[in-house]
Amino acid sequence: MSLTSAPPLVTIVIPIFNEEPVLPELFARLTAVFDGHRDMRWQALLVDDGSRDRSAELVCQRAECDHRFRLLGLTRNFGFQAALAAGLAEAETIKADVVVTMDADLQDPPELITEMLARWREGAEVVLAVRRSRQEHGPRRLGMDLFHRLFQLVSDFPIESNTGTFGLLDRAAVAALNSLPERHRFFPGLRAWVGFATMEVYYDRQARAAGKPGQTMRRLARYAFDGVFSFSYLPLRVLTYTGVFIGGCGFALGLYYVVKRLVDIERAPTGFTTLAALVLFLGGVQLIGIGVLGEYLARVYDEVKQRPLFLVKRPPAPTPGGPSAAAD
Ligand code: UDP
Ligand code: MG
Repeated sequence: MSLTSAPPLVTIVIPIFNEEPVLPELFARLTAVFDGHRDMRWQALLVDDGSRDRSAELVCQRAECDHRFRLLGLTRNFGFQAALAAGLAEAETIKADVVVTMDADLQDPPELITEMLARWREGAEVVLAVRRSRQEHGPRRLGMDLFHRLFQLVSDFPIESNTGTFGLLDRAAVAALNSLPERHRFFPGLRAWVGFATMEVYYDRQARAAGKPGQTMRRLARYAFDGVFSFSYLPLRVLTYTGVFIGGCGFALGLYYVVKRLVDIERAPTGFTTLAALVLFLGGVQLIGIGVLGEYLARVYDEVKQRPLFLVKRPPAPTPGGPSAAAD
């Protein structure tokens, strides 16, 4: 917690991508939360991830009349994780004492921030918002449930299930997260990895207030792969075990035929079907193996390239009188 005499600065980092329909309600509900805690300095940092609608414009308009709202614009759509990283980097720059990360679409109720701050005051350095229930349906929901189950099974590292981006981070936790250089970022995993004193709050995840999800199924699948390949070596291990098993079977079969031929020369096996099945099966196993190796190799390649995670087009306008003036 902050030891300075000024009231703590709370920064809410919110990535936005084509969120024009939800922004008015988001502003109103955040303002109500801010006004309810005048003992804090507040700042909503909206990171525009290359929106093609009027999202950035709406944030600018709002920022003009309420300096607690600020816009950080990226040069293009870098994806949710990169936008989040950009927001966290800015929060560290402006020396936020505590950071709340949340989605713009009001699936994460801003009112829960009050409860998170209470946990922070009790000494939590990380507060996880755990979903008691969620409103997604259909294939999206099925995919999410499947991913969370699978992830718990394969992850080499325990991560609280039913958590997403929504949560609170102390200044130290933000600095630790920002110091992790990896490009394929799976935020819930990284947040668990950095450790720190963690507490939980519970909520019912709402349906999207308006608009359509910007995270397509393809992007969610890629994100799920990032989670698995960043926090598990199991796919590689399965490959090794499969190889050892099939190799063992092949060796035993070979040995059997050699012995059979030696003791029973007349009736040597013919069996084209067995041969074709074995070749196809082994070919398939090898291709899957190469695919899994490729997934890890591609990630290593991305890390080696050292490209920045995001590029800023529009840094947030300085708050008149410095960040301390963000207090209302
Ligand atoms: N988002 C983003 N960049 C993208 C896609 C989404 O910054 O390329 C933001 C979006 O505006 C929202 C959050 O990420 O604030 C979560 O996105 P969405 O609601 O589409 O995903 P879901 O709730 O299904 O995870
Ligand atoms: Mg959403």
